[in-house]
Amino acid sequence: MTSMTVSETPRHVAVIGAGIVGASIAWRIARRGSRVTVIDKAEPGSGASSHSFAWVNAGAKEPIGYHNLNRRSLEMWPRFAEALGDDVGLRWGGKVAWETQPEAAQMLTARVRQLQSWGYPSRLVSKAELEELEPALNVGPVAAAEYNENEGQVEPQLVVDAGIRRLSELEAGILTGVTVVGLPQTGDGTVRAVQTTSGDIEVDAVVLAAGTDTTGLAALAGVNVPQAQSPGVVMRTTPMPPLLHNVPVVYAPPLEKGRREIHLRQCPDGRLMIGEGDQESLAEDDSQAHAEELLARAGQYLPGLAGAQAIPVPVGWRPMPLDGYPVMGFAHEAPNLYVALTHSGVTLAPALSQLAAQEICDGVRADAVLGPYRPERFAGLTAEAAAEMAHPRAGHR
Ligand SMILES: Cc1cc2nc3c(=O)[nH]c(=O)nc-3n(C[C@H](O)[C@H](O)[C@H](O)COP(=O)(O)OP(=O)(O)OC[C@H]3O[C@@H](n4cnc5c(N)ncnc54)[C@H](O)[C@@H]3O)c2cc1C
Repeated sequence: MTSMTVSETPRHVAVIGAGIVGASIAWRIARRGSRVTVIDKAEPGSGASSHSFAWVNAGAKEPIGYHNLNRRSLEMWPRFAEALGDDVGLRWGGKVAWETQPEAAQMLTARVRQLQSWGYPSRLVSKAELEELEPALNVGPVAAAEYNENEGQVEPQLVVDAGIRRLSELEAGILTGVTVVGLPQTGDGTVRAVQTTSGDIEVDAVVLAAGTDTTGLAALAGVNVPQAQSPGVVMRTTPMPPLLHNVPVVYAPPLEKGRREIHLRQCPDGRLMIGEGDQESLAEDDSQAHAEELLARAGQYLPGLAGAQAIPVPVGWRPMPLDGYPVMGFAHEAPNLYVALTHSGVTLAPALSQLAAQEICDGVRADAVLGPYRPERFAGLTAEAAAEMAHPRAGHR
């Protein structure tokens, strides 16, 4: 079954949502000559993109097809950032993780071996190597340690800001504080206009990149894009002098039995971001007390944090397709409506925006890459099938 695509480059494309995914797609489309109008109900970047830990990686992604998609995107980041033209805080140097307990060490070792079998630059390192890689760390006991040398970090807000600047230079319309409330269709399902709180906008094609709101908006056009709920918390510190000199992304083991690991990174403006568990852990405690506790735990591993203050950040809701994988492509029920919903959108923005722009502007289908991620996999989904499809841990992808 194939979904329709617009046969020629659409003249006017509305992009709903100016997060890192929507802004990236809008910019790619505008560069190709279409007239673009970006619509966001709030400020660009203020959705999930502003809550992101923003670790650019493929090491935490499986199975291999999804790993390869993330890896392709990770490798595209330098060129993407350069083309955006501003410093977007892209920093390389890799990620380290280590474990103290035998069972966790075994799992870490198995993960490294699997990544190595996929040709990924991940390797086991000794405690001495770990200390040499990032001397700022007080690592303590090490049962097994991992170093993924190709991973890094970026600042989603700077990416969105740069994208919006480039879009303005291309004379795109940027509507902020404007909410999309309807997607009126013609008889064959084609969306003829985007209905907003500021009036209707006539369109040839629509990109739906509204993050967690994508489900409700897609339903307005009769398209089923189910999501799981995936709250996450990453607190920040006050700005500190540069602490992590070599390795930007650190996963440190739990200090006590029964607790989860912590992850931390330092932003270019000196603030540190600290979260508990992994990138997909469900967390809703955004209290000052919890932020202080996370800071205290991070301080055990990074003594340079002494003197930093904890700043709690409200819960962030990850856009999370029901099965954890991206939803990309034109919808059967609304043939000029292109859905762009994904977790790991920070890692995936360069690749998904390139593929989306190609599919929208050239009328081609990149099935070899996006085939598994089409919206039609959710069409006619029964409650039973949905329960089966949902990953037991909403965010584990
Ligand atoms: C705690 C946390 C940690 C994360 N860590 C990582 C990580 O380490 N690495 C990684 O790659 N990814 C990570 N992610 C995921 C990543 O941040 C997201 O996948 C990405 O930000 C999604 O971007 P987006 O543009 O799709 O959505 P959003 O940034 O949410 O943007 C959607 C936009 O749509 C707008 N909108 C919604 N409804 C409407 C409407 N009706 N009308 C107009 N506008 C509307 C919103 O205002 C919003 O600006 C993390 C996410 C969270 C929350």
